Amino acid sequence: MTNKIAIIGAGIAGTTTAYSLAKQGMDVTLIDSRRYPAMATSYANGGQLSASNSEVWNTPKNIINGMKWMFKKDAPLLFNPSPSLEKYKWILGFLAATFDGKHKSKTQETIELAKRARELYYKISDDEGIEFDLLKKGILHFYDTQKELDIAAAKASWLDQEGMEWEVLDIDQVEDLEPALKSSNNQKKLAGGIYTKSDASGDIHKFCKNMHKLLEEKYAVKSLFNTEIESIYKDKDKVILSAATESETTGYHFDKVAICAGIDTQKFADILGDKMRVYPVKGYSVTIHLEDEKSKKSAPQVSLLDDPKKIVSSRLGDRLRVAGTAELAGKNKDIRQDRIRPLLGWVREYFPEVSTENYTPWAGLRPMTPNMMPLVFESKAKGIFYNTGHGHLGWTLGAATGDLLAAKILDAN
Ligand SMILES: Cc1cc2nc3c(=O)[nH]c(=O)nc-3n(C[C@H](O)[C@H](O)[C@H](O)COP(=O)(O)OP(=O)(O)OC[C@H]3O[C@@H](n4cnc5c(N)ncnc54)[C@H](O)[C@@H]3O)c2cc1C
Repeated sequence: MTNKIAIIGAGIAGTTTAYSLAKQGMDVTLIDSRRYPAMATSYANGGQLSASNSEVWNTPKNIINGMKWMFKKDAPLLFNPSPSLEKYKWILGFLAATFDGKHKSKTQETIELAKRARELYYKISDDEGIEFDLLKKGILHFYDTQKELDIAAAKASWLDQEGMEWEVLDIDQVEDLEPALKSSNNQKKLAGGIYTKSDASGDIHKFCKNMHKLLEEKYAVKSLFNTEIESIYKDKDKVILSAATESETTGYHFDKVAICAGIDTQKFADILGDKMRVYPVKGYSVTIHLEDEKSKKSAPQVSLLDDPKKIVSSRLGDRLRVAGTAELAGKNKDIRQDRIRPLLGWVREYFPEVSTENYTPWAGLRPMTPNMMPLVFESKAKGIFYNTGHGHLGWTLGAATGDLLAAKILDAN
């Protein structure tokens, strides 16, 4: 008899896991506390499918910057010093991972996952005809000082490889590649850039939404939305999930369960006694609606990464998504205007012809592990699995970790 498998969470991690399982003929139920898929962190992110952004953040330079920026309201990385045991445990883990000597090996492992995920997204797009504003135009990292460009260029010695070419461009080549960045159009003079031509960009929310429709219609995946799972336990060889509504508590029985609940995965790990540290690292985005012809023409097409400021942009049809900042502030999802303003200021600075009159602000919480590596494993309680902790790269890595977890679940049959 086919196993009944539940997936908690219909963000990118849950959606890709559901797809890989359903394609193998499994009986899958996708559960989410929200009314629609991908309404949490997989809603309005930077849009980058970026193997080239795989370098893990555990570096002494980032720690020094974090301390320098601690009290600067518009800093790319903001640390809220308010007391929280979870936050301090996570920071200790981050510090330990910074000095564990695995910076390069973890980065290479992430690159491999990102390349695999990209292949899978392209295959899904071709095989299933899923539309998500996919643009295969690469990612341009740009720098406004020669010193920063030289530091980035030197990384070619260990990052440059097939599928993640690390091509150093001078300013003329940058402007040829992305005419919207022509220095005559903006107030800034750039030093140059790094172009990773195999990277891509696309809309994570559109992907999850269209995949959900496909999963239901073509692969007979069942959906249980508006359903918040409060508890999980094993009863003999069954996994029981309980969800409470105002009037009653309902128990659901499954053979196997995959927990892909983003920042809330930690709650389940604590219930089950599994070792894990996933902390919310907050980020912001603005989606600029390009309404007039001048804005459409002046907004970049190539996905960009302003490396020193840690701001990314992606062209999603007639929208320009600009995202960035990392804030350690717990589960707070408030949209702070002093964090949104630098993103709009960045557009004004580099693309002054783009109107920012009509934009949608957003804040999301990246489920991040201290060493930046995603978690794909089986719980101590057999039959329960995790796929989480993708941090700033959930879109980039999602298809690969979903496929990995599906293989583990099928192996456990
Ligand atoms: C500003 C910003 C920019 C980013 N830019 C990029 C980028 O350019 N490229 C990239 O690769 N990544 C980027 N990321 C990271 C990426 O968006 C995340 O890693 C990814 O979306 C996380 O997906 P997830 O499925 O793990 O979590 P989520 O999308 O949060 O999904 C978890 C789901 O679980 C559900 N859930 C939780 N608890 C329960 C429960 N108890 N019962 C039922 N359902 C539950 C939630 O409702 C939610 O739908 C960015 C993130 C941010 C914040």
